[in-house]
This record gives sequence, C-alpha cells and structure tokens, in this order.
Amino acid sequence: MIEFKFFVNRLSKTINIARGSNKNGRGMLIPVVLLTIAIALALIHISVPASYYAYMVKKAGCELEGSCIDDDSYPTVTVIIPTYNEAKIIERKIRDVLRQDYPKDKMEVLVVDSGSDDGTAGIAEGLGVEVLRQEGRKGKGNALNYALSRSSGEVIIISDADSTWVGGDAIKKAVSLLKEYGGVTCIKEAYNKGIEKPYRDLYNNLRVGESCFYSTPIAHGEFFAFKRGLIEGFSEDIGADDSRASHEIAMRGNRFIATKSIVCKELVPEKGYLHWRIRRAQHLVQHFSKVLREIKEVRDPRYKRILQVESYLHLFNPWFLIVALSLDVASSCLNNITAIALLALFFISLLSAKARTWIITQFLLALSQVRNAFTKEIVWKKEAK
Ligand code: GDP
Ligand code: MN
Repeated sequence: MIEFKFFVNRLSKTINIARGSNKNGRGMLIPVVLLTIAIALALIHISVPASYYAYMVKKAGCELEGSCIDDDSYPTVTVIIPTYNEAKIIERKIRDVLRQDYPKDKMEVLVVDSGSDDGTAGIAEGLGVEVLRQEGRKGKGNALNYALSRSSGEVIIISDADSTWVGGDAIKKAVSLLKEYGGVTCIKEAYNKGIEKPYRDLYNNLRVGESCFYSTPIAHGEFFAFKRGLIEGFSEDIGADDSRASHEIAMRGNRFIATKSIVCKELVPEKGYLHWRIRRAQHLVQHFSKVLREIKEVRDPRYKRILQVESYLHLFNPWFLIVALSLDVASSCLNNITAIALLALFFISLLSAKARTWIITQFLLALSQVRNAFTKEIVWKKEAK
C-alpha cells in the first residue's frame, strides 16, 4: 500500500514536471522531446514521397514509343471482361470494346461471369460475345485464370466492367507498345470530381514516371494488356491481381509500362466510397508486403529502387504521419505552445484538397493494414456505381 502511494506520488510529480509546473523550467523537457520526434517523423513522412514524386514527374515527360504494325500483321487479341452482377453497366462496357478500331477477325471478347444473379451473363450473350460461366464466386483472380485458359489471343487485355476507354484506338496503341514492352496499362481518369481527382493526378504521374524510369509495379484492371506467356497466371490469394501480374512481367526482365496515350475512365461508387478505397488499399498492401519478401530476388537495380520506395510508401510511411500526429497531440496536452500551433497548422492544411487527399490516403493505408489481419477481401461486396 505504501509502495502504491509512493508510486502515485512519483507519477503525479513527473506529470507536473512534464506539464511545466516546475518553476525552474526543466518541466518542458518531455513535451519538447515529444515534439522534436514528431517533427522529425513528419519531415521524413513528407520528404521521401515529395522527392520521389519530384523525380518521377521529371521522368514522366519521356516518350514511350511503340513500333508500327502493318495492317495485315496485327496480332490476335483476347479482351477478357470479368463480371459479377454488372447487369446495369455490362452493355455499355461491351459496346465500348466492340467500337474499338481493330480488325474484328483478330479480336475475341470473353466475358467471364461468376454466378451473377442479376442477368449479367444473358445480357452479354445477347450482344454476341462469348460468355464463360462459373457457378460460384471464387474471386476475380480465379475467374481471370479460367478465362485465360480458354482464350486464344496472342495478346490478352483484361478490362473491368465498370470502365471505358477514351478514344477508339486503345487496342492498336497497346499492341504497338507491346512490340517493345512486356505489358501495358492505362492512366486513369475518374468520372466524378472530389477527392478522387487530385489522387488520380498524383497517381498517374507516378505510374508514368516509373514506366519511363523502368517499370511500374502498379497496374489497372481497367486496361491491362500483355503478351501471352509472360505470366503464369493471376494471383488468387492476393487481391491486386493486376499489379501482381505486372510485377511478374517485370521480374522476368520485361518492362511493364503505364502510358498517357491510353486513358481509362472508371466509375466511382455512389455509396461506400471509403470502404471501396480501404478494400483497394488492402489489396495494394497485400501486394507490397509480398514484394518486400521478394525484393532480394530483383535483378534490375532501377526496378529494385522503385519497389523499395513504393513498398516503403505503402507500408511504413503512413505510420510516420500517425505517430507524428499522436506525439504532437501529446506534446500539446502538455502545454507546448509550438505543438499546439503545429496542430492548428495541420488542421488548416486540410482546407487544401491536395493535402486532404494525401492525409486521407495515409489513414486509409494504415487502416487497411489493420483490416488485412481480419479479412483479405478476395471476394468483395459489390458497390453500387
Ligand atoms: P475495383 O475496380 O477493384 O473496385 O473492383 P470492381 O468491383 O470494380 O471489380 C472489378 C471487376 O471484377 C468488375 O468487372 C467486377 O464485375 C469483376 N469481379 C469482381 N468480383 C468478381 C468475381 O468474383 N468473379 C468475376 N468473374 N468477376 C468479378
Ligand atoms: Mn472497378
């Protein structure tokens, strides 16, 4: 009992010293130390992505050129559209693919449907494309592997039902680029504005910059083209099946590029936007966690550098912001005026759309790591679009 009282006494003295109630001024030590660590972490959190971004934006000006192809030597192409309950939008999607300027006798469109109960498969068949039906839902990666095994094209293009391609020459451009590179993905334009727009601009610049530097480890399911044989199959245990596949292409010594010349549009969910973002972040976190385990095997030094930075940005950097903020709050609670001023500055920065987008993304990435411990979302709930 006496020991307990002694302990409480000591604790309250320590808190008092920390709160600055000690007249000789030494009491500011703890809040100052907390704030110093917070500032150091915040500086790391900002400077690594900022310098990477500045470097990649400079690179992103390069021209990624394909090769000319004679009209009679176009390769055969299979476009695979995976679907689960896309009745509302599948017609728009198929028409968008069929309007592409590409020799029709060299083009196969496969819809792979995993037991939709809203009539998606019937609508697709009615539009004259081949439909592969899976009875149950085992995830998108599983469906893509099934379609891959039944496809015949020399070039494969995966494209999600909720996307369209800007312009009519996306396939021609991809086929020409595939003469030089292993795989090609688009840059993305969001249909609606809000937080998605600044996020997309940042993302597109990074993807193209990485492609100019060597190869991007993030691919988009809205347009993912590759030469048959460059991947063994799509991952079924990791959500980012497209990014995993782009990584496999690069690991085998072929560059995988995102090009500004192919632009995709993707519908953003009407409801459940944050849940949608978390699920996608979860998939990227799964991807980069695996990349990190494989990083020793990467032979190309440029690709290795990209993977090191991207893994760091997805897995570790978000926590630096969260820890920095927590320490700043702790320091503010201990009456540190500088900490309080910095906290106010942080909240003011939220008025800028770019800063808000960045900060929200960091929280979503951290949250998604926690969520991955409970569910990997390999089969996910369909969001209304
Ligand atoms: P997001 O782009 O990651 O947000 O995911 P979406 O919900 O847009 O799904 C991407 C594409 O995969 C869409 O065309 C979906 O219809 C399709 N999809 C999702 N889950 C499954 C599945 O279990 N089986 C099949 N065949 N397709 C799926
Ligand atoms: Mn989508």
